[in-house]
Amino acid sequence: RAGMSRSINLAVIPGDGIGQEVVAQGLKVLNAVLPQDVKLETKEYDFGARRYHATGETLTEADLAALKKHDAILLGAIGDPSVPSGVLERGFLLKLRFAFDHHVNLRPSRLLPGVATPLAGQPEIDFVVVREGTEGPYTGNGGTIRKGTPHEVATEVSVNTAFGVERVVRDAFARAQARPRKKLTLVHKNNVLAYAGHLWTNVFTKVAEEFPEVTTDYIHVDAATIYLVTDPGRFDVIVTDNLFGDIITDLAAAVSGGIGVAASGNINPSREFPSMFEPVHGSAPDIAGQAKADPTATVLSVALLLRHLGYDNEANRVEEAVSADLGGRGDTSRTTDEIGDALAVRV
Ligand code: ATP
Ligand code: MG
Repeated sequence: RAGMSRSINLAVIPGDGIGQEVVAQGLKVLNAVLPQDVKLETKEYDFGARRYHATGETLTEADLAALKKHDAILLGAIGDPSVPSGVLERGFLLKLRFAFDHHVNLRPSRLLPGVATPLAGQPEIDFVVVREGTEGPYTGNGGTIRKGTPHEVATEVSVNTAFGVERVVRDAFARAQARPRKKLTLVHKNNVLAYAGHLWTNVFTKVAEEFPEVTTDYIHVDAATIYLVTDPGRFDVIVTDNLFGDIITDLAAAVSGGIGVAASGNINPSREFPSMFEPVHGSAPDIAGQAKADPTATVLSVALLLRHLGYDNEANRVEEAVSADLGGRGDTSRTTDEIGDALAVRV
């Protein structure tokens, strides 16, 4: 970034429930890690359940225009039991993902020292799932006929385009190339889902020619769920479609320290639109307002945000601070704020 003026213009969406609590810690750490000469500007947006109840709005065209001006977005969590299921997911999260073309959903899984895993021993876990974000069965294509009758038929069409598959596969190859092990695994179900499977497998094989240093591998999604539990060390980078990625990343989070430490990025690699970084967990209404939420996932999302914007050293420092702090994990009495303070001191 030499020669560029150093500033970050960040949109902050605390959202609902513990989103408010964890985002405050993410910002605390971001402020602490950035060098003096980097100007951090933040603007807070009130999307989520309260805004929906007050105005009936989830995300308007004007909101999108305002958000577009930022370099990146930090999100806590959106969702509340008082809002009918699906309204905020489709009206906010999916809408934003499609509007800003967040086609790379990045979810790293790293089992850090001192973090409990349900797996036996302390396996080496350090992989990244690159999940396609804008296609597959999540595009709303399909329908129902003879609704409500015993003869109801529902279809949910999985959309896979050569363009969409190729850009996410290429992104995954580039990420694998940049990692020490340089290994990329395609996860699909190409023996049964033959049309989409053919497209994914063909594109994967074709793009592989551009990355001769990357070792490639293919696993059916059902087998992948077994290996994620029995041999997670075999994975380096995984690329997969929207639905499989949704499912295996929850499993990946469960084996690598749980929902409290799982970070994610919804990325537009071209930077045409701002990318959004958020913890994998939701608004956790059951513990909201009790200072019990673990802000680690949000802080690790801040590290992804920093790396996306080219602040690699700062991203590394945030991740190292988290690793170092996790030694003190036995202490479950620490509040959300105390963990945030400890991380801000360490960076
Ligand atoms: P969503 O539909 O938004 O994914 P959810 O109800 O499926 O929401 P979460 O909100 O992620 O899931 O909560 C799942 C469980 O994990 C809850 O019991 C919650 O208390 C717990 N949990 C989630 N995030 C955290 C966190 N940061 N720290 C501690 N516990 C958490
Ligand atoms: Mg959930």
